[in-house]
Amino acid sequence: MSELLAPILPGATLGVLGGGQLGQMFVHAAQAMGYRTAVLDADPTSPAGLVSHAHVRSGYEDPQGLAELAQLCAAVTTEFENVPAAALRTLALQLPVSPAGDAVAIAQDRAAEKAHFVRCGVPCAPYAEITTPAQLAAVGANLLPGILKTTRMGYDGKGQARVRTAAELAAAWDAMGRVDCVLEKMLPLVHECSVIVARGRDGAIVHLPVQRNLHRDGILAVTEVHAGNVPETQAAQAVAAAESVAHGLNYVGVLCVEFFVLDDGSLVVNEIAPRPHNSGHYSQNAMDVSQFELQVRCMTGLPLVQPRQHSAAVMLNLLGDLWFQDGMPRTPAWDQVLALPGTHLHLYGKTDAKPARKMGHLNITAATPEQARGVALQAAAILG
Ligand code: ADP
Ligand code: MG
Repeated sequence: MSELLAPILPGATLGVLGGGQLGQMFVHAAQAMGYRTAVLDADPTSPAGLVSHAHVRSGYEDPQGLAELAQLCAAVTTEFENVPAAALRTLALQLPVSPAGDAVAIAQDRAAEKAHFVRCGVPCAPYAEITTPAQLAAVGANLLPGILKTTRMGYDGKGQARVRTAAELAAAWDAMGRVDCVLEKMLPLVHECSVIVARGRDGAIVHLPVQRNLHRDGILAVTEVHAGNVPETQAAQAVAAAESVAHGLNYVGVLCVEFFVLDDGSLVVNEIAPRPHNSGHYSQNAMDVSQFELQVRCMTGLPLVQPRQHSAAVMLNLLGDLWFQDGMPRTPAWDQVLALPGTHLHLYGKTDAKPARKMGHLNITAATPEQARGVALQAAAILG
């Protein structure tokens, strides 16, 4: 979209493709700023659809649904990484769409994503594409042990297999139905971190502080954000790398870039998400601008101002497992958790709790990282 466009001011309707929790938090941020909202999602009970002014109940590929959304909205964004890029391109013929279909298409494809990192001069894990038996046979021993990842549709550790030998690799590829994959060398991770950048249509860019992330079973469990959570050199490198990845895509919107810090101190990029990210949720309570407000500002052409962190933060993901004890359903003791200072509960309104399902998150803010961590430990003990 041209930078000559006037900003879209509050009062207008903003649309989002996808009705999950990221869409819900986008809707809340947009509404708080005085926008109306429209959500496109086929699920009548989608978290975002439930809180939006309008809810178009259609699939992403339904031309009528897309036309209805375009009719309602002044601009459209996405919350779901696997929304077909074609849907974004179709909408972009009629109204401003950010991020663009071309950028989302790259984030949807691990091979294209890695090729983009290489183009930007940002180091990533050594890898090989595996789309044919010949490519499988040609894999060098230098990539083993490794992680085989489906090129498309993987998330929360799904679509991945850890392999030690060529025989295990071949068996894992068979088990995945020989779909297109990349094999990545298994790296010695010391920390995982991520950076969220927001880039406007004029190319202006701001970023949130470097987030340190802890995963359990391939799913984000805890994010900690305070100065010094990642050594300063790596933090500065991560921000610079995230910015070059965004500039290289001519990206408009909120982009999360995930990194690994290795045992030799080097930093490698892991993957990108073309939307707000679970690791940025602390920004709702610990920053003066949240990642969702940044998404609103990007898509409307409002100014981007560098966000400021005013509190140390810990974010705990609340998975459906917490709704069960010894196999029996229960309600977590929210009253006890909320008695702790600096706790901010965010639940997405999903009615059916299932193990590993993201039901909400708890942001903890405090004056110091030690205090935030102390409260996080107490909250975790209560939630059991
Ligand atoms: P997803 O799309 O499921 O988030 P990722 O590629 O981020 O997939 O992988 C999930 C997790 O698996 C990472 O956060 C990290 O903990 C681990 N992992 C992924 N790739 C590697 C690697 N090359 N070496 C070591 N650990 C890895
Ligand atoms: Mg990941």
